[in-house]
Amino acid sequence: MKTEMHVKIREKRIDKILKQSGKIIIAGPCSAETQEQVIETAMALAADSRVNYLRAGIWKPRTSPGAFEGVGTIGFQWLNQAKAITGIPIATEVGSERHVYEALKHGVDMVWIGARTVSSPFTIQEIAEAMRGVDIPVLVKNPLCPDTNLWEGAINRFIRAGVSQIGAIHRGFTPPGKSALRNHPIWSVPLMLRDRMPDLPIICDPSHIAGDRNLVPIIAQRAKGMGFNGLMVEVHPNPQQALSDASQQLLPSQFLSMLNRLYDLSNLQNSDELLSELRLEVDMLDEQLINALGNRMKLIKQIASIKDDRGLDVFQATRWENIILKIRQLAHEEGLRPSFVRNLYNSIHKESCAFQHEQMVQSVVK
Ligand code: PEP
Ligand code: MN
Repeated sequence: MKTEMHVKIREKRIDKILKQSGKIIIAGPCSAETQEQVIETAMALAADSRVNYLRAGIWKPRTSPGAFEGVGTIGFQWLNQAKAITGIPIATEVGSERHVYEALKHGVDMVWIGARTVSSPFTIQEIAEAMRGVDIPVLVKNPLCPDTNLWEGAINRFIRAGVSQIGAIHRGFTPPGKSALRNHPIWSVPLMLRDRMPDLPIICDPSHIAGDRNLVPIIAQRAKGMGFNGLMVEVHPNPQQALSDASQQLLPSQFLSMLNRLYDLSNLQNSDELLSELRLEVDMLDEQLINALGNRMKLIKQIASIKDDRGLDVFQATRWENIILKIRQLAHEEGLRPSFVRNLYNSIHKESCAFQHEQMVQSVVK
């Protein structure tokens, strides 16, 4: 093992990293859990010169109370030990002004803002003020909902506070229900951000999009194909036992072979991986379509009972014409063929009328 004195700290400025290698690679556990876990991960990652930052969450913003909320500031000692041994700069998530001061006090080299925090402009402003005059990179994850303005607004708050090393992380958006991927990638949102801020480095976090370690490489492959400026990936020496996000973390060896496949070998597998990723996105949209049809039918049920009470006919010609007009316009905007959408809606309408008749007959029988 190298001693502290001989360790060369890797480059910390994101602009220089991008200039040197064309990508920023951040890897490490979802959460810092123990000294051994942090150091073991860092040492395994240090074997690859492509890893630019070691990530680990010290404070974890959990959706539900009672889940593991992070080890707190003790974790900085472990991260700094890992840095002293390996030379890899360290990164953590900050979610408040206090977190910023603690992270800076402990010499953190980069901070990122989590998806839950980005949704709160008050908190972002507070964190941005705390970063004023500090020259370390700040990476802003997308908010939970696909709102490009909110994401861009958060980034602009940091720019206005004078943060010069700024970047974004695409980690996907909360889907409405059960879905093939943990978070919906909706690639058009980060692409829109790229159009608006062409100089902003945007990296992808395939771990939180996938939610499943087996799917992380295909998301990473897609991100690379779309020209993202790097990756943030969750890596853990014992993923099954992880205290947070156990199902999506990769072993260091899995992560490093993923990097080899992505960046070093131009292989035929790429189009297979792209096909799998595209199919997963199609699955997610199908889930949303069925979910939307189910919700539509629930509303139709309520409408049926109102029509029944008022003695109205199931078929309402004017309403149907209006629906068709609106749908035709929407379909045109989406580039869908009018005959396809007409057939689809005839079928939906037929089912909806049949369903309402059934409801009304049932209410007579009762
Ligand atoms: C994380 O990076 O571990 C994390 C909590 O991510 P997100 O904010 O994207 O949910
Ligand atoms: Mn995580």
